[in-house]
Amino acid sequence: MSNAVQHIVIVGGGTAGWLSACLLAARLPAKRITLVEAPDIPTIGVGEGTWPTMRETLSVIGIAEAEFLSECDAAFKQGSRFDRWRDGSATDSYLHPFSAPPAAEMLSLAAAWQAGGQQGPFAAAITPQHAVCAANLAPRQRTMPDYGGALNYGYHLDAGKFAALLMRHATKRLGVRHIAAHVTGVTRAANGDIEALLLRDGEPVAGDLFLDCSGQAGILIAGECGADWIDRSDVSFNDRALAVQVPVQPGSPIAAQTISTAHEAGWLWDIGLPTRRGIGCVYASRFLSDESAEAILKAYVAANVPGADVSGLTPRKLSFRTGHRDRFWIGNCIAVGLSAGFIEPLEASAIVLIELSLKALADNFPQTRASMDIHAARFNELFRYRWDRVVEFLKLHYVPSQRSEPYWQAQRAPETIPPRLAECLALWREQSPSAWDFPRIDEMFPAASHQYVLHGMGVPVPLAGEPPSPAAAARLGDISAKARALAAALPTARDYLDRLAAQVPAARIPA
Ligand SMILES: Cc1cc2nc3c(=O)[nH]c(=O)nc-3n(C[C@H](O)[C@H](O)[C@H](O)COP(=O)(O)OP(=O)(O)OC[C@H]3O[C@@H](n4cnc5c(N)ncnc54)[C@H](O)[C@@H]3O)c2cc1C
Repeated sequence: MSNAVQHIVIVGGGTAGWLSACLLAARLPAKRITLVEAPDIPTIGVGEGTWPTMRETLSVIGIAEAEFLSECDAAFKQGSRFDRWRDGSATDSYLHPFSAPPAAEMLSLAAAWQAGGQQGPFAAAITPQHAVCAANLAPRQRTMPDYGGALNYGYHLDAGKFAALLMRHATKRLGVRHIAAHVTGVTRAANGDIEALLLRDGEPVAGDLFLDCSGQAGILIAGECGADWIDRSDVSFNDRALAVQVPVQPGSPIAAQTISTAHEAGWLWDIGLPTRRGIGCVYASRFLSDESAEAILKAYVAANVPGADVSGLTPRKLSFRTGHRDRFWIGNCIAVGLSAGFIEPLEASAIVLIELSLKALADNFPQTRASMDIHAARFNELFRYRWDRVVEFLKLHYVPSQRSEPYWQAQRAPETIPPRLAECLALWREQSPSAWDFPRIDEMFPAASHQYVLHGMGVPVPLAGEPPSPAAAARLGDISAKARALAAALPTARDYLDRLAAQVPAARIPA
């Protein structure tokens, strides 16, 4: 085949670039892969919460779980907890866990919980993960096979160490070629495709398929291929973050979920790793000054991290544009990672979109240039759908809030709510979210996620079509018994990770 797609060239060495290199090298071993990264442009260096998808990704790439955990200072993530989102009070808290009962059972369990007088939080009634998170437990025992668990889980990790591990794995174990050079432009084939990258110092790098992992700049997808930007800041207001890393005392508990605490004009993330906590203040510059955001961040650290030296903290400021490209695949160029778009990290939806992009590409790899435009059209349709659902799901966290500050009032203004979400919210006044609202088999946020948020925010969710059944009530009893059994059987995350750290890593890659 004269126009066979053999050589994949990736621009960018952040999480998106190195995940792309590893996954494509592992999934498509017959292809040649080159990654070009500018040594003078730093990676964004944040992005510390993953989804459960990361377990399959790491397993496919061929990294052992113990190696990943110890090399990336990683911990287990079993969901996100939202504090002070509903009314701002100190007891206002709910969990969006990664585990959910089978979709077919969700409504009957919710009906049984309501019929029983809504004893305790919704998530606590329908999944044992609530109890496991509350006790800071790991989702697995050491003896379980790699990437298997008693409950669904992803990770919290050190983003810099993760990119470094992926780079070593890609170059030393998977045969990826690494070029440290600044891309300054491209040459074109007669059909308009990118033919080669031009480098500031070095020979041009020719390829058949180019992945733009150059971060927010999107140097290929926007700079060369002309993708337009779809701004979503009318829906999602936050455009700044201040981030700090705070060392923790040895032996201190490691949280099993990301903690997201609402403040007057945004929210704070709190991600626990074995040696430190990554804490950040996300806010809308339209509603809050940088100085006020820093004061909120420092007050949170002082109140929540025992022994922290707040005066010594110098927050790192990050600015971001909220939105995404109108097309993610143009000609022979695909945007993966921040080059494709970004929205605030409220449900950590960025790295999973990288993984999903790579899965879509590897499952449907264009063997020749002839099929590429068909793949591109499908890819663009799928990822427009996904971005729209992500934007709507994140907005759902704000709309039911009763907080009274101007930012929160603005978040509920009808003109800021995407039409499809407004339509769903009208339906959900009469019936619960269900698979009818989220019909694709690979929805990023299925009906269960929407139910966790609505029940957690105290929105009355009618279940008129689901008469309470004795069988569902008995299932709630089983779930509660399972929660007690798991609480007795699982180690704390601290114990699990400290014991792992005490062992010599089995298969370290030389630097
Ligand atoms: C505040 C914040 C918090 C976040 N939290 C999360 C989270 O919890 N979970 C999550 O999933 N995601 C999160 N994200 C998103 C996550 O950080 C990114 O999706 C992820 O790091 C991927 O970034 P990237 O590789 O696309 O871009 P970058 O890390 O910016 O990397 C870009 C790369 O491109 C290279 N490059 C740029 N220009 C050129 C050029 N001209 N020539 C050659 N190379 C070039 C750079 O050298 C660099 O290597 C967060 C983002 C922010 C802003």
